[in-house]
Amino acid sequence: MNVKNIFFSSTLLLALCGSIQAQNTQVIAHRGFWNVPGSAQNSLAALTKADSIHCYGSEFDVWLTADNRLVVNHDETFKGVTMQNATEKVCTAVQLDNGEPLPTLQQYLEEAQKLKTRLILELKGHKTPEQETRAVEGIVKMMKAMELENRTEYITFSRHATKEFIRLAPKGTPVYYLTGDVTPKELKEWGCAGADYHFSVFKKNPQWIKECHDLGMKVNVWTVNEASDIEWLMNEGVDFITTNEPILVQEILKKK
Ligand code: MG
Repeated sequence: MNVKNIFFSSTLLLALCGSIQAQNTQVIAHRGFWNVPGSAQNSLAALTKADSIHCYGSEFDVWLTADNRLVVNHDETFKGVTMQNATEKVCTAVQLDNGEPLPTLQQYLEEAQKLKTRLILELKGHKTPEQETRAVEGIVKMMKAMELENRTEYITFSRHATKEFIRLAPKGTPVYYLTGDVTPKELKEWGCAGADYHFSVFKKNPQWIKECHDLGMKVNVWTVNEASDIEWLMNEGVDFITTNEPILVQEILKKK
């Protein structure tokens, strides 16, 4: 084999490796698949639609209400109701933009039981660690009762809640930390399944992707909606892309 052939074969091999890595990237619908008619962020419709396009997972946000119930919504205060300060009754009286009532976690999981997509549950940061612990306890108990433990992954910006999920969820349940201020090595020491960071964190620290993989951890990235960022992350071999544009990510994946 001459030098030219060796060069050609190596280039081909590298391109093939890149392609295999990219094909392994999985799509997570951020707050469900919501930017289509009839859907809304964190609605039952958004969960169902994410499942219908075969997303690996559907992400959603959870709050503990003032009366220690669990509800699904992103915003701390949504349509004038502050989730942590209001009762479940008040929270669920709020209407989502598609006309659905704001769901309880119980209702959301009952819908999930009919589907296959994985549940990427984000616990929002609460006012006190005690509230977060109560929320984690309630979530883990509900997942067990509804037999959804094996389909669930936990994510949170809170260091306390990250550690509580690791402590209380069944061993092996993936738990990811979102804030982006902790090195892969430290995440591993906490017991995380990997890093789930904003893409700007990986632009700044591209070596963290390999470091996570070398430590046996996964890499999830949020919230990636632009084709150029999606392409870059796929080529870097990230495991999951969390996006508001799941169809776009799927189309780019198909071309790889
Ligand atoms: Mg979220």
